[in-house]
Amino acid sequence: MYDFVIIGSGVTGYAAAMYAARLDLSVAVIGDVEGGTITLTDDVANYPGYIQLTGQELAEKLKEHALDYPVLIETGMVIDVFRTEENIFYVVTENKTFLAKSILFATGMKERELEVPGHDELKNKGVSYCALCDAPLYKEKVVGVVGGSDSAVKEALL
Ligand SMILES: Cc1cc2nc3c(=O)[nH]c(=O)nc-3n(C[C@H](O)[C@H](O)[C@H](O)COP(=O)(O)OP(=O)(O)OC[C@H]3O[C@@H](n4cnc5c(N)ncnc54)[C@H](O)[C@@H]3O)c2cc1C
Repeated sequence: MYDFVIIGSGVTGYAAAMYAARLDLSVAVIGDVEGGTITLTDDVANYPGYIQLTGQELAEKLKEHALDYPVLIETGMVIDVFRTEENIFYVVTENKTFLAKSILFATGMKERELEVPGHDELKNKGVSYCALCDAPLYKEKVVGVVGGSDSAVKEALL
């Protein structure tokens, strides 16, 4: 039985594990892809304290930091989660079941992709999904923002 089980071993999962362990909770992190989405980029330039590092390096540093505490990091796909009447969570992977008093979904998000011709060829080569990450690449160029929500306006401001 763990105090806290985190589903997802990306930057959010590792950071949450480190903070929870500092609060003296027993912690397990279960994720299918170690490091998560940030490992897809070779250039992280906005992480305070590091002028530039690759996503893989950042993920490894965060994992190492979490493992400086008594945290279990387990590789696996969570296929079921349920809570009993006694308020115990069961977190089920293909091979194991973890019991927890509380859980955190740190499973990331999926972009809603632009379904137009040319998108797939130009993704990450002119078509971006993160202004904070990529806006400097388009400095002094004409940029179109697709979308109509508050997120689109925020990205346009950035
Ligand atoms: C090309 C690219 C470049 C980027 N560059 C930057 C940058 O320079 N600076 C910046 O700040 N941000 C950047 N980002 C954004 C950044 O990568 C994300 O904001 C960040 O990685 C989100 O971390 P997360 O831990 O919340 O989610 P994720 O990294 O998505 O982690 C979620 C994890 O949960 C796992 N998971 C999901 N479901 C299950 C399940 N059922 N069982 C087990 N595991 C599961 C996933 O496989 C994944 O490993 C970039 C993103 C991309 C795509």
